[in-house]
Amino acid sequence: MATFTPRTRFLSHLYRPRLHHRIYQVRNVPPIHRSQHTHTHAPPEPIRLKLPPTLSLFIAASGLIYYAATLHISPQPKNLNPQTFTAYTLTSKTPVATSPPSHTAIFSLRPEHPPGQQLPFTEGILSVQVKQPQLQIARSYTPLPSNPGEEKDGTLRFLVKLEPGGEVTRYLFSLGLQDKVFLRGPMVEYTFPPVGEVDKTLFIAGGTGVAPALQLAANSLTPETEIFWAVRSRAETEGAMAEEVEDLVRKTGGKVSVKVFVDAEGGIGIQDVERGMEGGKVAVVVSGPEGFIKRVAGEKTWREGREEQGKLGGVVRKVLEKRGGEVRVFKL
Ligand SMILES: Cc1cc2nc3c(=O)[nH]c(=O)nc-3n(C[C@H](O)[C@H](O)[C@H](O)COP(=O)(O)OP(=O)(O)OC[C@H]3O[C@@H](n4cnc5c(N)ncnc54)[C@H](O)[C@@H]3O)c2cc1C
Repeated sequence: MATFTPRTRFLSHLYRPRLHHRIYQVRNVPPIHRSQHTHTHAPPEPIRLKLPPTLSLFIAASGLIYYAATLHISPQPKNLNPQTFTAYTLTSKTPVATSPPSHTAIFSLRPEHPPGQQLPFTEGILSVQVKQPQLQIARSYTPLPSNPGEEKDGTLRFLVKLEPGGEVTRYLFSLGLQDKVFLRGPMVEYTFPPVGEVDKTLFIAGGTGVAPALQLAANSLTPETEIFWAVRSRAETEGAMAEEVEDLVRKTGGKVSVKVFVDAEGGIGIQDVERGMEGGKVAVVVSGPEGFIKRVAGEKTWREGREEQGKLGGVVRKVLEKRGGEVRVFKL
């Protein structure tokens, strides 16, 4: 019998009570949601009003005074927080591969003000929202594990894939070095199990879904983490990302292993997952595009505007049906 634990996301360090519901509220803020692709920006027919010049001047002056007053009343926040957007500076943008050119890059963002506190990386997998200022929408991204020295200045690094028609990724890729970016967060997307509850985490990641896998591998207290990383082309795993993965494996001293599966070479098979799920009490975490999550562990569902874990399906279910037993599964 499969124990399928529908755990949810929360801002534990900020809101202790009603953790589960808090998550969904944050997640369901319409402009932030990953699955919300209903951005129709067709401008309405312009309505031209003829106002006397003195009235126009008065309205313009009032607007300016209001703007200045608002800026004065609500100064820019200095620390990253889930309610308001905090200014960061883009300090580097490294394509994952240059040959062939890749549509995925690592963005480094340094806070304008030194951070007053560290992010609670040891609590769970964190995400941070990036604002697209013209459209006033935001999307979530998962910070990669920090590089030495970056922890102190609060630099956050993100692995981002350019979506050709995507609003926030096109905006991010259009930015130049030293441009400002506004971030809000963190949100806890998955809480690490307490020590002793899990012997091994099998993280099955598709594409940029490897970012939360690396974050978990760097911070969770589980004795062993095995990452299965499925990619369309091997180039996605080379260059900057190869360094990223090698660094992490070295730093964690054998606790973490990463296996790459290229779609064209067969991808992740049922035998791979079956083998990955061996090793005592195993937690399976799945992250990636919707279709990938569905194929690996069944699709996530929506109820009353909230995203839920849905039934266990896909390859993980097949493994359980074949060999029996229990497994904890979480779909990011
Ligand atoms: C917790 C969390 C963590 C994440 N971490 C990462 C991360 O680390 N790295 C990463 O790259 N991504 C991550 N994502 C995904 C990310 O939040 C965005 O969803 C992704 O970058 C696309 O955003 P966008 O605004 O560029 O695209 P969107 O504007 O949302 O569009 C996405 C796709 O849908 C298409 N589309 C848009 N509107 C329509 C429409 N009306 N009809 C048909 N198609 C449409 C676009 O062409 C595009 O291909 C994460 C998501 C979540 C929820």
